Amino acid sequence: MTIAETRSELREALSAWDDPALEYAFVPTMGALHAGHLRLVAEARAAYGRVVVSIFVNPTQFDRAEDLERYPRQFSKDAEMLGEAGADVLFAPRVDEIYPPGTTTSPLPDLRGLDARYEGTMRPGHFAGVVQVVRRLVELVQPAAMFMGQKDAQQVAVLRQAAQAEAWPLQIIAVPTVREASGLAMSSRNGQLSEAGFAKAAQIHTSLAEAVERWRGGESAGAISLSAKRALETAGFGPEYFDLVYASDFSPVAADANLTTVREPLLWIVVAWYEAVRLIDNMPVL
Ligand code: AMP
Repeated sequence: MTIAETRSELREALSAWDDPALEYAFVPTMGALHAGHLRLVAEARAAYGRVVVSIFVNPTQFDRAEDLERYPRQFSKDAEMLGEAGADVLFAPRVDEIYPPGTTTSPLPDLRGLDARYEGTMRPGHFAGVVQVVRRLVELVQPAAMFMGQKDAQQVAVLRQAAQAEAWPLQIIAVPTVREASGLAMSSRNGQLSEAGFAKAAQIHTSLAEAVERWRGGESAGAISLSAKRALETAGFGPEYFDLVYASDFSPVAADANLTTVREPLLWIVVAWYEAVRLIDNMPVL
């Protein structure tokens, strides 16, 4: 695996694949890698043969300075894991390689309101930062496809919309969430939980599974959402939201809607805090 830290090192590493017939895939990450990230690399490799992975803790997508500071970093371990997973190129730039002094950012494309809901409102400026950095990384890497995790479902929806609006020449492929044996969605942030907190956090997944069951049983979206939030609160979580949304645009399903009144792809989405760690997860309603 070649490690590229600058744009010119990246260009050099990619020049081996200058033949336009050689397509390759891209997996953007912020490092502190786990089996979820490695699944993206494995799927990218299976589909395209060649994979570029980036590790870049993007300052512009953090709405709180202490969150950026606290974000886990473990570069040598990450590089070793990626080498073993068969990544071909690891792009790990410093901040000024991605945002050279004086860089101006093109305005955001129309995100059809996706950036004004849930993660967009809870983390002001977050999606602008995500679109900005992914646009930049994609320009530099020029992949045929980008692999992303369904765990961050709204992020996938935002990037699909940005890619369509700006005609990025690539496919976006979403990979199902990789979970711990307990059901807890794997996340770089899980390492910030205590052992007891790590065990407890599985309740987020349990509550999603229960919500799916209760929806299938005919209960209204509003009733399920309310009792799920209460149950999480009682268990010591700080839920930010627990809602049923349309998968197409993340607009909320009406509180009195139920199985018989809505027939579109839906998603239960949740963010809940535990031990000062912000945990995000979702589950589709089939
Ligand atoms: P991050 O490093 O958290 O920015 O994540 C990089 C990519 O890995 C994103 O596309 C995430 O959605 C994806 N990802 C993170 N956790 C998981 C997981 N548990 N399963 C699948 N993909 C994941």
